[in-house]
Amino acid sequence: MEIAPQEVDVLNKRVLVTGGSGFLGSHLCEQLLAQGSEVLCVDNFFTGRRQNITHLLENKSFELLRHDITFPLYVEVDEVYNLACPASPVHYQFDPVQTTKTSVMGAINMLGLAKRLKIKILQASTSEVYGDPEIHPQPESYRGNVNPIGPRACYDEGKRCAETLFFDYYRQHNVKIKVIRIFNTYGPRMHPNDGRVVSNFIVQALRNQNITIYGDGRQTRSFCYVDDLIHGMIAMMRSDDALTGPVNLGNPSEFTIRELAEKVIALTNSRSSIDYRPLPQDDPMQRKPIIDLAQQKLGWSPTIHLDEGLIKTIDYFESLLKTY
Ligand code: NAD
Ligand code: UDP
Ligand code: UDP
Repeated sequence: MEIAPQEVDVLNKRVLVTGGSGFLGSHLCEQLLAQGSEVLCVDNFFTGRRQNITHLLENKSFELLRHDITFPLYVEVDEVYNLACPASPVHYQFDPVQTTKTSVMGAINMLGLAKRLKIKILQASTSEVYGDPEIHPQPESYRGNVNPIGPRACYDEGKRCAETLFFDYYRQHNVKIKVIRIFNTYGPRMHPNDGRVVSNFIVQALRNQNITIYGDGRQTRSFCYVDDLIHGMIAMMRSDDALTGPVNLGNPSEFTIRELAEKVIALTNSRSSIDYRPLPQDDPMQRKPIIDLAQQKLGWSPTIHLDEGLIKTIDYFESLLKTY
């Protein structure tokens, strides 16, 4: 990723990244190191992988700690990015109680740490706080439509409660908080068995296996390429303390899942055909961010078109699958 000279202003900052060996976390660690920060990556390797950060282990400014953030953590750092939490429905539903614990107890511990050290803390929240939205596209002011007892609730309600904790630590203890709501983000280093739609479709297409569309494929998502997202995340951390968020970060170009399948088949020249499967319970029918706030306050907009991002992601999976 290219770094603009004006962005190199964080020399010697010690930054804690929880979930740092995951998909987004590994890109964030890489970018922070490139910009001169020291990075402490904390991960319990539930969905994260060593391969995502192997190339960083040689870097003297990078440190890795295997730790589960549902337990207290006493370290000395200058800022925290709290990303630890499985993000794919397949993974977060595998052990739903642990998913809620990670969001809620993890947030309490990381906020306790930020409070003790009087430092800034950023929470990787999600468009899932909007649930199956009745307002389209979604502004930050929309309060959402989440089923509190369904199979997605461990993630959605866990993330909602984490937002509550962030705002209560802000109001009650003056902790400097930054909350971003991330919309579907994809790119290299997604886990091949992650279960999310972009990685599933690419892996299936490259193997000429059937592409599994859940439901009729008319549900929509808006896909953001990882480099764009990481730029937005860092811009949010560096913004004025008064900007607590929540701020939506995502790419407002909306596609149906069927369109995504067709694009992936075309870009991989695959012989795959489409296999329609039942739609999972509570699967949101539409999702698209309003990003006016990020544009105005952060000067941030995504720049990478879906086709361009898919080509980069396909290249990654092509190399990865050769090693499997
Ligand atoms: P990921 O599953 O690749 O990464 C999550 C990381 O957190 C993994 O490395 C995992 O091992 C680690 N982790 C999980 N539980 C932990 C615990 N208790 N203690 C320590 N580490 C733990 O997912 P991702 O896509 O990189 O998502 C990162 C964050 O961004 C998550 O909080 C997710 O909710 C949020 N997010 C991602 C997206 C997206 O589209 N990728 C969208 C919205 C929100
Ligand atoms: N905590 C932590 N690291 C720290 C400071 C606190 O993990 O550096 C944990 C601590 O174990 C506590 C939680 O964060 O359970 C919340 O801290 P807070 O100070 O808000 O609450 P208290 O300690 O008063 O219960
Ligand atoms: N999906 C699909 N086939 C797959 C994986 C997912 O049709 O193999 C659908 C899923 O039902 C949802 C959309 O793609 O409507 C996005 O799913 P994903 O798990 O990537 O993210 P989320 O639902 O959390 O946005």
